[in-house]
Parts: sequence; C-alpha cells; structure tokens
Amino acid sequence: MSEFDVIVAGAGPAGLSAACLLALDGRRVALVARDKGDASDPRTVALMQPSIRLLMHLGLWPGTLKSQTQALLKLRLVDDTGSMFKAPAITFDPAELGEEAFGWNFPLGLLIPALHARAQELGVTITGSDAALAVTSSNSVSVTTAAGERIEARVALAADGRNSIMREAAGIKINGWAYDQSALATSFDHSGRHDGISTEYHKGAGPFTTVPMPGNRSSLVWMERPARAAALMALSDDELATEIQIGTHGELGRISNIGPRKLFPMQGLVARDFARNRIILIGEAAHVVPPIGAQGLNMSLRDAAQAADLMEGEDDPGQASVLAEYDALRRRDVQPRQQVIDLMNRSLLSGFVAMEAGRAAGMALLSQFGPLRRAVMSYGLAPTANLPRRMRAA
Ligand SMILES: Cc1cc2nc3c(=O)[nH]c(=O)nc-3n(C[C@H](O)[C@H](O)[C@H](O)COP(=O)(O)OP(=O)(O)OC[C@H]3O[C@@H](n4cnc5c(N)ncnc54)[C@H](O)[C@@H]3O)c2cc1C
Repeated sequence: MSEFDVIVAGAGPAGLSAACLLALDGRRVALVARDKGDASDPRTVALMQPSIRLLMHLGLWPGTLKSQTQALLKLRLVDDTGSMFKAPAITFDPAELGEEAFGWNFPLGLLIPALHARAQELGVTITGSDAALAVTSSNSVSVTTAAGERIEARVALAADGRNSIMREAAGIKINGWAYDQSALATSFDHSGRHDGISTEYHKGAGPFTTVPMPGNRSSLVWMERPARAAALMALSDDELATEIQIGTHGELGRISNIGPRKLFPMQGLVARDFARNRIILIGEAAHVVPPIGAQGLNMSLRDAAQAADLMEGEDDPGQASVLAEYDALRRRDVQPRQQVIDLMNRSLLSGFVAMEAGRAAGMALLSQFGPLRRAVMSYGLAPTANLPRRMRAA
C-alpha cells in the first residue's frame, strides 16, 4: 500500500488542474488515472479571466499556450428562433468591465496534454490505472486501482466525471436529468474574419455557438434535437459546411475544412452534497450543465482552486470543517448558475408564447440597460464573492 497526502481520481481537465495546484502547495499527490486524459477531444473551451489567472499560477500561461489560443474580444447573442417576439441582438464587450478580453478559447486537445506534462514536472504520481474501488473511514480514504494497487490518503478529490465511482463511495446522491438535445462539437475555416467575436445564435432547438480560434477558424457547438444532430453527424464535410453556412447566415463567409466532430448527449446533473466522508467532488462529478455561456469547466476550475485554498496549511486536509466549508462555498456558486443555464436552455425549447415573450423582453432590457448588462457580464465571468484566492486579480 502507498500513502499520499491527497488522492485525485480522474485525469480530465478538472482533475489535472487540481493535482497540479496541490503539488505546487507541496502536497504528495497521487493521480489515479488510466491515461493522459482524452487529448483527441474535438471540443474547445472558452476559459474566462479567473481561469486564465489559475493557469498563470500553475506556470502554464502565457507560455506556449497563448499563441495557440484566441482571445475572446466580444460575445454576441442573436435571437434566431423565428419567434413572433424577436429580441434585439446583444453584444457584450469586456471593455465595459475594464478588461481587454473575456478570456481565451482553448482546444481541449491542447490544454489536457499541457496540464498532464505540468503534473509530471511537479512530481505528481500517476498510477496509470483507473480507480476500481474506494473505501472511506473516519480518518482516511483508500483507493484500489484496476491494476490492483492500493493507495491511501487523508482526503480524495473525485474528478472522475459524471459517472463518478468516488462520489458513490462517499455516499453522495445526485439529481440528474436528460435534455431532448445533443450537442455537435466541431471546428471549421471561414473566408471572413471573426474579429475575436463569439456568437451564440439562439435557435429553436438550442444555441448554435461559434467561438473564434486563431486565424480564420472557429469552433462550433451546435445543440439540436437528437435525431437532427445524428443526421448532421452523418453528413459529408461539404454537406455539413453548407449547413453551417446556413446556420451562421453567411456572417463568417464561406465555410470549409471541417475538423473532427463529436456528439454529446445533453444532460444536467448536480450532486446533493459537494463533499462528504473525506471525498470532495470537483468538475463533472459534481455538476454537469449544457454548454451555454461557457460555464462548465470554468466552474470546475473554481472547484479545484477552492479545494486547494481550503486545504492549504491544514494538517488534516480531509477534516470535516474543510469539507463543510467547501460544500457551502461551492453550493453557493454552482446551484444558481445551473438554474440560470437550465432556464435559458428550456426557454428556447419550450415553444410557450409567454416564455418566448419573457425571453425577448429580457434580451431587450439587457441590450438597452448598461448596468444590467455589466452585472450579467461580471456574473458570467465568475462569482463576485468568494472567488478562490489564486483566481483573483492582483
Ligand atoms: C460541447 C461542449 C462544449 C463545452 N464548452 C465549454 C466552454 O467553452 N467552457 C467551459 O468552461 N466548459 C465547456 N464545456 C464543459 C467542459 O468541457 C467540461 O466541464 C469539462 O471538460 C469536464 O471536465 P472534467 O475533468 O470534470 O470531466 P471529464 O473531462 O469527463 O474527465 C473525467 C476523467 O475521469 C476519468 N475517469 C472516469 N472514471 C474513472 C475512474 N473510475 N478512475 C479514474 N478516472 C476515471 C475519465 O476517463 C476522464 O478522463 C463544454 C462541454 C461540452 C459538452
């Protein structure tokens, strides 16, 4: 049996970030993971300024990442529902908050290997095998890997995704549901310029969001009813390019060079407790939201940073008071945010006239009323209270 200060289960972006943070704090960290995380993931993730500050703290930003990512200079919401209550387009400009950019758009295929390499540099022990069994006791957590190795620590971070076995070992229940939607993620070249602008077209089956990448290229998250999404997946590249051209109304010019694509069935999940029995949930083990407003991984990085803040200097980082504070702080950030995203998504799907009128009125108010727009932008970037220390501006 090997002993560590902290076990992190799962080498997705949330687990890798947490492992790096805790190793930087001088903890002996075991990362229980079979592989390097999925570097072939075709998604890009928009990481907002607080997450960028976390990457800076980890020694990864700007480094070699900045030149391979694209600054998000403006965010545009366009009502493309065809509803009788047409809402005005809204442009969010970070200059209104005194920021040069909302954040940067990272290919996950770039971010995950960079975090993995940093974890190795920082001396994180990577097991090379997933967690098969976890058992908690009053003063420790023990994990047995699929290869039969047993490791023990005072605390474990469950970053093993939405079907987390660590969450189950902690005895934490979830509220989970499915949306009648799938998201197609891909990327494409375009003949026109994006000028650093991300556009979220609100369509009847969900948002269709283009996010700028370096050069004349953008990533796309296209939420659709599952049957239509499956049909889009089956199209040839040229056919899909034509559909994207229609979806963007030609605003990005001619579409070509479609990248790898992948379909993600849309789910919602929120854990009923965020920490219990020496196990702390981070990332999608704790919360899954539809990709609206680029919230998922940004919340997950706040989970990791909050856990590291609370454990700092503690002889027993898995003691009940640390877990109780983590639970309270993360609940306050995650639950309302999840509800707002859920409401936005359902307002597009509902087809109820009153809901459509309400959404259009809300967008009109946002486009005309500067203080409200700034409050929404600032909320979208991060919580205004209790931001983890390593994510705050200097
Ligand atoms: C289409 C789309 C676009 C998105 N865009 C954005 C965006 O712009 N901005 C943003 O902030 N978020 C975005 N998100 C959300 C973001 O991608 C996710 O929040 C993030 O990737 C989840 O990371 P994670 O580490 O929590 O989970 P995962 O990436 O699922 O990682 C979990 C890891 O745990 C491993 N694992 C599973 N079981 C075990 C086990 N028993 N033992 C050990 N390891 C195990 C898995 O192999 C995996 O490597 C998007 C999501 C989608 C679907």
